Amino acid sequence: IIAMNGVSKWFGDFQVLKNLDFSVDPGERVILCGPSGSGKSTLIRLINRLEEHQEGTIAVNGIELDDDPHKIEQVRADVGMVFQHFNLFPHLTVLENCSIPLRLVQKKSAREAEELAMKYLSRVRIPDQAGKYPGQLSGGQKQRVAIARSLSMCPRIMLFDEPTSALDPEMVKEVLDTMVELARDGMTMVCVTHEMGFAKEVGDRIVFMDCGQIIESAPPAEFFGAPRTDRAREFLGQVL
Ligand code: ATP
Ligand code: MG
Repeated sequence: IIAMNGVSKWFGDFQVLKNLDFSVDPGERVILCGPSGSGKSTLIRLINRLEEHQEGTIAVNGIELDDDPHKIEQVRADVGMVFQHFNLFPHLTVLENCSIPLRLVQKKSAREAEELAMKYLSRVRIPDQAGKYPGQLSGGQKQRVAIARSLSMCPRIMLFDEPTSALDPEMVKEVLDTMVELARDGMTMVCVTHEMGFAKEVGDRIVFMDCGQIIESAPPAEFFGAPRTDRAREFLGQVL
């Protein structure tokens, strides 16, 4: 469902991704990990073209990404993304945050959009917060709104970039639980996270990056049980 071949990317003179091959099968859950600055966020942002690559090919759902805005739009319609810092509109209520994109992007009626939004707010267990503004919510609740907003667009792929790293510890679990449920429902997921318990429970495959390259790619039991490289061992020593 995602296929990257020989992908390289530079920021100015700095090569952030080096000739990467990375693919994800439908229904697969891939955990991306690695040291700070290794290129995880950049890699994940290439998938919905928040960043552009300079070499290689990237295809999502069989659509090869290039400068064609129509293709970018098609890919984005199938790819939801959740960031570290929620990215909610502060001046809109929770319900509006979730329903307005449905009206603007998917041209749903107000009533249909609100019904769908409420369905997904219930799914992340915060339907009672629908009338509040983001500033009135806890971090964990805000992140669940962001997840509900993404899900209500019915994406085929969900990308998560450290969705719990800005949260207080007691709120991490409620967000991870939401993600576990999503995984159980069969969603294709690519998650950048340092939550190794979650990675073990949910990941079909752990991809370890360092310095713009994929160093290891293995099922959790193998990656955690017997990392093949010193760099992965060192990384695990720091996060476990
Ligand atoms: P972290 O774990 O800290 O989030 P990361 O693995 O997600 O790190 P990236 O954000 O992908 O790393 O960044 C990889 C490298 O690219 C870093 O050295 C970063 O400074 C650089 N970089 C990222 N975005 C830009 C940008 N817009 N312009 C220039 N350099 C950038
Ligand atoms: Mg990052």
